[in-house]
Amino acid sequence: MRSRWSDSDAQAYLERYAAAPACNEDIALRVYTSRLIGREPALVLHGGGNTSVKTRLVDDTGELVDVLCVKGSGWELGDIEPAGLPAVRLATLQALRRLPSLSDEAMVNAQRTRLLDAGAPTPSVETLLHAFLPAKFIDHSHADAILALVDQPDGGRLAREIFGDRLAQVPYVMPGFALAKLAAEVAEANPQAEGLLLLKHGLFTWGSTARESYERHIAAVRHAEQHLAARRTSVAAPAQRASAVDFVDLAPRLRGALAGEREAPRRYFLHLRTSPAILRAVDDPAVRDWSQRGPITPDHVIRTKQFPLVLDPQQDPGAQVERFRAAYRDYVARQAAARPGRRITPLDPDPRVVLIPGLGLVGVGGSPKAAAIAADLYEHTLAVIADAEAVGRYEALPESDIFDMEYWSLEQAKLGAHRPRPLEGRIVYVTGAARGIGAATARAFAGHGAALYLVDRSGDELAPLARQLGAAWEALDVRDEQAVARSLDACVARFGGLDGAVSNAGVAPQANIADCPPELLRDSFAVNLFAHQWVASHAHRILRRQGLGGFLLFNASKAAFNPGPEFGPYAVPKAALVALMKQYALEGAGDGVRANAVNADRVRTGLLAADEVEQRARARGLAVDAYFRSNLLGREVLADDVAAAFVHLALAPSTTGCVLTVDGGNIAAAPR
Ligand code: ZN
Repeated sequence: MRSRWSDSDAQAYLERYAAAPACNEDIALRVYTSRLIGREPALVLHGGGNTSVKTRLVDDTGELVDVLCVKGSGWELGDIEPAGLPAVRLATLQALRRLPSLSDEAMVNAQRTRLLDAGAPTPSVETLLHAFLPAKFIDHSHADAILALVDQPDGGRLAREIFGDRLAQVPYVMPGFALAKLAAEVAEANPQAEGLLLLKHGLFTWGSTARESYERHIAAVRHAEQHLAARRTSVAAPAQRASAVDFVDLAPRLRGALAGEREAPRRYFLHLRTSPAILRAVDDPAVRDWSQRGPITPDHVIRTKQFPLVLDPQQDPGAQVERFRAAYRDYVARQAAARPGRRITPLDPDPRVVLIPGLGLVGVGGSPKAAAIAADLYEHTLAVIADAEAVGRYEALPESDIFDMEYWSLEQAKLGAHRPRPLEGRIVYVTGAARGIGAATARAFAGHGAALYLVDRSGDELAPLARQLGAAWEALDVRDEQAVARSLDACVARFGGLDGAVSNAGVAPQANIADCPPELLRDSFAVNLFAHQWVASHAHRILRRQGLGGFLLFNASKAAFNPGPEFGPYAVPKAALVALMKQYALEGAGDGVRANAVNADRVRTGLLAADEVEQRARARGLAVDAYFRSNLLGREVLADDVAAAFVHLALAPSTTGCVLTVDGGNIAAAPR
């Protein structure tokens, strides 16, 4: 690791924030080096680490006061702004050091009541540590190379050999008031020190300038890296080989097992991560030993749990997940018993990291992002453990310390209180998603919290929509059965499973049925009937493997019930599509898979070209706008109305085999 400090970049930060409110040169440079640290994954990951500066700002009376600007919760160092470094009045914060003890709630209250801006984010849980140390700039990380050295039975001795007295050592104490006091005492007893090593936790450095503190941090990490590199046993990269395990086959079964009770399933996303280094680690038989020692730094526990599940892919995932849960419940019961009088609400007992020999590591989370974060943290964990084993023996904190961290209210607060949206956790596949009803449906499902895999013939319009919705996407010809199967597999590989499909893609050819060219009719059947079957059959197989039920939704049409002249090539396969839906309702119910259709009419979607619409309107003696409103309600049916019907059917637990009509009222077309 090397310093990325640049005088010209520093100058650019000074200029950028010169006129910013509640900012000054100290804070501008604090933003600069905080970002340098935050953009180095070997230093901090996903909200880890924190930084501070002691400076002076004008308060609301116009007086210049001493403040500590320290990372606020909810901000990441890599893209922090001055607003992410809330200013806390320093003198009265430091006065807290006189107290013999301070509860977590009182500590948070003390920090918030000293803010200059009542609307600022809550300062870091490590604020008092920053306040009690005298240095102007302070940087804290959980650097990989540092953890490999301090996560050892004799990490203190090892670190002293490497760093001498440049870094003073603090034995492990949970973050909070007690750690802040202890760290300040250690720093005062070691006036020569440039920073602190927090055993089993991480690194603090300080300096009188932003650059000095930052470069001391980098120097310490580089020193640790050099020590490790000299001892790292070089292992030849394994020959490229096909994975022994099929993730697409395994993922839905694992996701189904992780969901717990069928009545109120916990729907997780799975994020597969694989690389030569990961494979080497998970294929090592010793993985069952060292992976069960605990996290490399305690604040990972809220995202990774104390241990990963090591899964034998040849055995049923269900029994293995159940054993993991039983061990987790025992751990909670044991630790709760050791804390009589404390009310403990157990968290879910499910693993957040799954190590699979022959495949890689899988992050598990309530959102695609949470699953990726768990995978990131554990990918670094594997590297740290390998290095720790190369220089000695990897050792984590005992379970009581891990429990204190996992069940610490201030850590749980980092995950944030969250009211889930109705389709949150659902993985939904949508065809014909680029435009019209498909695009409106994609928007509606995304708005209700679903994770989406969108397909359409071309990516031109689909890609920007997918980007806007944070969805995965692919250009796909739904007439190609093999391609549809591969596409649904890709959805499983991306998210870990599937909860439903909206089979929407369609074409609207017109011809007199008696004179219809065979190719035109065949192509209409290929899109308007068979493509629905390819989507439904493959989706149904995945849903069955997963065991959590699911939904199949079809875009039928008014034409299925009420054919129009010259519209036979469209109406005939659409009528068959309603029969297809009923067949899936009949045969899927045993697996909890519901099948339903929406019967919409006269929606402006681009399915018909403008001149075709005009022609159809003229045939009825109507202008185009009147044509779209010629229904019982006299109201134009919008793509959003159809999308709302699909959302409703996705959420209707007791409805299957149903055609929901969205046409403004048309008795001649009503299903009977
Ligand atoms: Zn920390």
